[in-house]
Amino acid sequence: MLGLTKGITACLFDLDGVLTNTAKLHMAAWKATFDAFLQEREGPGFAPFTEQDYLDHVDGRPRADGVRDFLASRQITLPEGAADDPPTAMTVNGVGNRKNAALRSLIAERGVQPYPGSVRYLRAAQEAGLRIAVVTSSNNGAAVLEATHLDQFVQARIDGQVITKRHLRGKPAPDSYLAGAQALGVEPSAAAVFEDAVAGVEAGHAGGFGLVVGVDRTDQELREGPHADALRAHGADVVVSDLAELVAQP
Ligand SMILES: [Mg+2]
Repeated sequence: MLGLTKGITACLFDLDGVLTNTAKLHMAAWKATFDAFLQEREGPGFAPFTEQDYLDHVDGRPRADGVRDFLASRQITLPEGAADDPPTAMTVNGVGNRKNAALRSLIAERGVQPYPGSVRYLRAAQEAGLRIAVVTSSNNGAAVLEATHLDQFVQARIDGQVITKRHLRGKPAPDSYLAGAQALGVEPSAAAVFEDAVAGVEAGHAGGFGLVVGVDRTDQELREGPHADALRAHGADVVVSDLAELVAQP
């Protein structure tokens, strides 16, 4: 049923890129932030932030981890700073807060939409009596769920704010997904994880979940692309380009 294996009673969904189109906005906000940072530091000949950088270093991870990881790939180290550093601070947290400000203005400008195939899947999962949680590294999780009216489907939410408050390790560690399963009262083996990020399928694999579904929207035409391969290599049991593909499956 719904592409799930036997014994699955709960679904744990990543948010950005799985349920909503916000992964594109995250990518754009990171690019604006890092390109301005690199240009200021290295001048006009700087090597821009690419989609591959996003997929390899940033996607799915907590914000500060994304900053630290990407800058390390360019041999740049910044002091950590504090969570409430202003966006102008030359610290890991300052750069992260700059990205969050960019993201918020992009969300205000372009709006947030849920993927129609994901709404169909959520409705079918709810009708089938499956338990549903959202597990996201984003600090904006609650606001995005509310704005898209997806909160009506969701019984538990583990987001960036919960992760910080409970001192959980972010993706690719399994902690946030394990917390999602616990919040729904199910064992990991009875839960399916839905993820579009390499760090996220790694988390699903590391947590011993019953099924890990990779979502690759990078190229709707070409399901066998490099991102789908990376998702499989890092723990996805199956890869789809949209959850609608699973709705009709027995
Ligand atoms: Mg995602």
